[in-house]
Amino acid sequence: MTPTKPLPQPDAESREFWEGVKARQLRLQRCRACRRFRFYPRAVCPHCLSGEFEWVVTAGKGTVYSYTVCYRPAGEAFAADVPYIVALVDLAEGVRLMSNLIGCPPDEAEVGMPVEVVFEDASPDITLYKFRPAAP
Ligand SMILES: [Zn+2]
Repeated sequence: MTPTKPLPQPDAESREFWEGVKARQLRLQRCRACRRFRFYPRAVCPHCLSGEFEWVVTAGKGTVYSYTVCYRPAGEAFAADVPYIVALVDLAEGVRLMSNLIGCPPDEAEVGMPVEVVFEDASPDITLYKFRPAAP
């Protein structure tokens, strides 16, 4: 039997984020005190330690900070996907996320390329966010 891919396990702090992804929105926490965005979701601002925050729907646009092309899968469940791209994406809101870059041949991936979020249903309960090339 082919193993299944691990999926996110939403908890009290990340549930709003994952519900947003399921609703085709990339929502980030923004601190009410210093107004900075943060990722991953957490109770306290890493910049000023305030516990006051709001959820903001982002445009889901950013640029590739770095990436790697995986020719060896990160486990049997990913074997059919190689080669695939794992990328660090800097969102316009100032946070960095890790995900897959899809819709892009590996030899066309570039640091600094503009990308936009896309959503893929992974199970009835979990949707994943990924990125694809976007017009500048
Ligand atoms: Zn803050």
